[in-house]
Amino acid sequence: MQPFELITVSSIPDAVKAQAASSTAQQGAPVRFIAGGTNLVDYMKINVETPRQLIDINGLPLAGIESTPDGGLKIGALARNSDVAHHELVKERYPVLSQALLSGASTQLRNMATTAGNLLQKTRCVYYRDTAYGCNKRQPGSGCSAIGGHNRMLALLGTSDKCIASNPSDQNVALMALDATIHVTGIKGDRAVPIDKFFLLPGQTPERETVLEPGDLITHVTLPPVPSGAKSLYLKLRDRASYEFALASAAIVLKQSGGRVESVQVALGGIGAVPWRSHEAERALTGKVVSAVNFRAAAEAALHGARPQSQNGFKVELAKRCLAHALAQAAAQA
Ligand code: SF4
Repeated sequence: MQPFELITVSSIPDAVKAQAASSTAQQGAPVRFIAGGTNLVDYMKINVETPRQLIDINGLPLAGIESTPDGGLKIGALARNSDVAHHELVKERYPVLSQALLSGASTQLRNMATTAGNLLQKTRCVYYRDTAYGCNKRQPGSGCSAIGGHNRMLALLGTSDKCIASNPSDQNVALMALDATIHVTGIKGDRAVPIDKFFLLPGQTPERETVLEPGDLITHVTLPPVPSGAKSLYLKLRDRASYEFALASAAIVLKQSGGRVESVQVALGGIGAVPWRSHEAERALTGKVVSAVNFRAAAEAALHGARPQSQNGFKVELAKRCLAHALAQAAAQA
């Protein structure tokens, strides 16, 4: 691990100023906020992340979880994944989020990992983690070793000729299905970013993963209320039963009426360069009779644009079955 400076801040404006000032003063030298550290410290130990300065934000008042006047939920950036997953309001209103969080990592990690940290979780591509290999996301212009290499876990949708990495988060798939909004404060003030505008596809610049700018601090996430009577759930398929990343996963919010799908929100994990919202599946299913045939048709629509690599073709069918099964499970809850 490289030497680094650690500073602490006790107010949100101080955190923003410290990050912006350090980023400006040390051109090209990374400055990072640190909270739980479950991802960042992991990467610092293997020299993938080499910040000169860490800004400890654990003292900021950003860990609350509370109802909003519209019946939605506000989740602080520093709310620990365990606290969110076990919160009564989350379990009652957003079981898809609770289930997604509990399907990820280990108890110890969930007790430390934060909501904002999870939003910024790095890919598990093996070449990103190994500085002996070229990786455009880690070092722009160095190539993508995963194309034609070890890519079994990587993405089918949203990839580019520069990067085929998958987003590893479970939380973010649930937040995508729930139409979350990410609230950010920065040197230019506050702004609210819909989650479907927060993540950036790799394109020609895979090193840039979100719309965050230097000095930006995520303060909280808000969730709108789910439609009255809707059921939500998260289904995750993986190589082993715990402490493993998704090969494919599905987050569903489904409302049915009179045997038909009145509304449905679908997001997929493990198969996208970003947490993958599938409006194609939603369009295919809305208004249709609740049936296995129509669930399969929605799954076909969701994976229509899949571009498998040399080792991950099996995930096309796996993701279709995952989505069709999740839809059937959600429908059965009604
Ligand atoms: Fe790097 Fe992305 Fe290629 Fe993996 S897939 S080696 S993260 S550029």
